[in-house]
Amino acid sequence: MASTEGGVKEAPRARTLSEEIYRRTGRQPARCYQCGKCSAGCPMAEETELRPHDILRMVGLNQADRLLTAKSLWLCAGCETCTARCPNDCDPASVIDELRSMAVAKQPDTLPRNLMAFHRSFLDQIRAHGRISELGLMVSYKLRTGSLFQDATAAPGMVTRGKLHLGAPSISGVEEVRAIFKACEEEER
Ligand code: SF4
Ligand code: SF4
Repeated sequence: MASTEGGVKEAPRARTLSEEIYRRTGRQPARCYQCGKCSAGCPMAEETELRPHDILRMVGLNQADRLLTAKSLWLCAGCETCTARCPNDCDPASVIDELRSMAVAKQPDTLPRNLMAFHRSFLDQIRAHGRISELGLMVSYKLRTGSLFQDATAAPGMVTRGKLHLGAPSISGVEEVRAIFKACEEEER
């Protein structure tokens, strides 16, 4: 706690969202100069209310409440095109990913149920196999959302076209992947 000249102690200043992102990722969203190159290449830009340069701007304006409940965060495909195009090394993809983690940790009840179900199912698959099992992901998601039989008739066609693999061999480094999950969980406690 900082102290003033008269000996009265002041509460430490709360971190801004930009500072918190920097602490967590080492990326500096404050460096964004709104050139828009990230959004120009984003394949999801047409579908989202907030494009990557909007999100970086809102981080700069410390609009945590609005950002952490924004559906746009969850429509990001994680393709990293924005990061590759950014001339200023702001890494919008990592910033968005971190905002998602913060949203899950701080306001899980405000997030759309199906998005959370997909997010958790995806992570479960990575933890279990070190990779995605399409069938495992689909079953886990459907169990979480109670939509087990929705789209069920499409599954056989997807299997025959090679779009849905029934087996899910784990990667050879799956134990290292699980150790990363464990370390992250311990850090969050
Ligand atoms: S490309 Fe980089 S500097 Fe330009 S708007 Fe996007 S994040 Fe900001
Ligand atoms: S990582 Fe997300 S925000 Fe960035 S270009 Fe891909 S879809 Fe768009």
